[in-house]
Amino acid sequence: ISVFDHVVRAPEDPILGVTVAYNKDPSPAKLNLGVGAYRTEEGKPLVLNVVRRAEQMLVNDSSRVKEYLPIVGLADFNKLSAKLILGADSPAIQENRVTTVQCLSGTGSLRVGAEFLARHYHQHTIYIPLPTWGNHTKVFGLAGLSVKTYRYYDPATRGLNFEGLLEDLRSAPSGAIVLLHACAHNPTGVDPTTHQWEQIRQLMRSKALLPFFDSAYQGFASGNLDADAESVRMFVRDGGECLVAQSFAKNMGLYGERVGALSIVCRTADVAGRVESQLKLVIRPMYSNPPIHGASIVSTILKDRTMFQEWTIELKAMADRIISMRQQLFDALRGRGTPGDWSHIIKQIGMFTFTGLNSEQVAFMRNEYHIYMTSDGRISMAGLSSRTVPHLADAIHAAVT
Ligand code: PMP
Repeated sequence: ISVFDHVVRAPEDPILGVTVAYNKDPSPAKLNLGVGAYRTEEGKPLVLNVVRRAEQMLVNDSSRVKEYLPIVGLADFNKLSAKLILGADSPAIQENRVTTVQCLSGTGSLRVGAEFLARHYHQHTIYIPLPTWGNHTKVFGLAGLSVKTYRYYDPATRGLNFEGLLEDLRSAPSGAIVLLHACAHNPTGVDPTTHQWEQIRQLMRSKALLPFFDSAYQGFASGNLDADAESVRMFVRDGGECLVAQSFAKNMGLYGERVGALSIVCRTADVAGRVESQLKLVIRPMYSNPPIHGASIVSTILKDRTMFQEWTIELKAMADRIISMRQQLFDALRGRGTPGDWSHIIKQIGMFTFTGLNSEQVAFMRNEYHIYMTSDGRISMAGLSSRTVPHLADAIHAAVT
């Protein structure tokens, strides 16, 4: 008899569980559009050439050792990450009022930020968009914050419910934290326009709402690193405070290396220093210090002009392939005369299309066509190729007719 006999089996993670089911399917026609990881036109995972090159340089550098990093991670990596998201000429960086700590990819950065806020920020309510990446609710809830939602997506227009969003933020208590997707909103692929961002910024600043940006797709949405950081930069430009969780999983293809950063932009250098000292107290008992390999790859690339340039080209190629998959899927549905307006497929931004398919249609496509996606009808465009578009279009056509 086990002392753990009372332990009940937990359900699979709603996103990662899709891959578990996919792996069990013996059909050769099967297609995994569940998890958000980039695949080549051949359906293979991609390691960027510039990443391979950086790794080679690291391996050949015999001066490199495996000592622990400091609690806050690799200093170069932190500086370069802040520059990447806030802009090379950011006054906040020049004024030394940004503290950046290396964390375990985007998720770890969100969690460290949330733990810090739960200990040191006066408001414990965080507003997250409805819907949002499923892990947000758990990350913030387990950190001790009280999670509420603001309206975001309008199923009728398959676009932004901007009035609902403003109304919900307007009625939030003063000082509340607001989680914002910096770009390429997951799962909807719907982002505010620049003009809408400006209205959101004004409203949030007037109510002293604290922005917490989740930046998991910088450069991956438009193919341009600066364009995809513009929302964050608008909020930093006004001199106010905010948090940013950055992930290098998608834009450098470093998924399993777990490399990311949390930056907290503060009013003064003095505040930033004190905030950093407390971030260390958050991190030390969780995992002591972050891993060295992924952060070394990133800083090798970011600090070398040629490698940086090479990276932006490879990044743009990934973004362009995804955008081209949108067009191909849209054309394939139009070609089949599939009922409905599918223009949202080409209007949405980033890795995912929020198809509008319901959970029954999703189940139908899994059972009849061996196509796997999350039950909310979200498909990863990065998992598609010219070869598989017709199969997906056939399945969608059959599901809606
Ligand atoms: N936020 C969002 C919105 C995401 O889509 C993801 C990845 N799916 C993450 C954060 C975190 O990813 P990671 O921890 O792998 O960087």
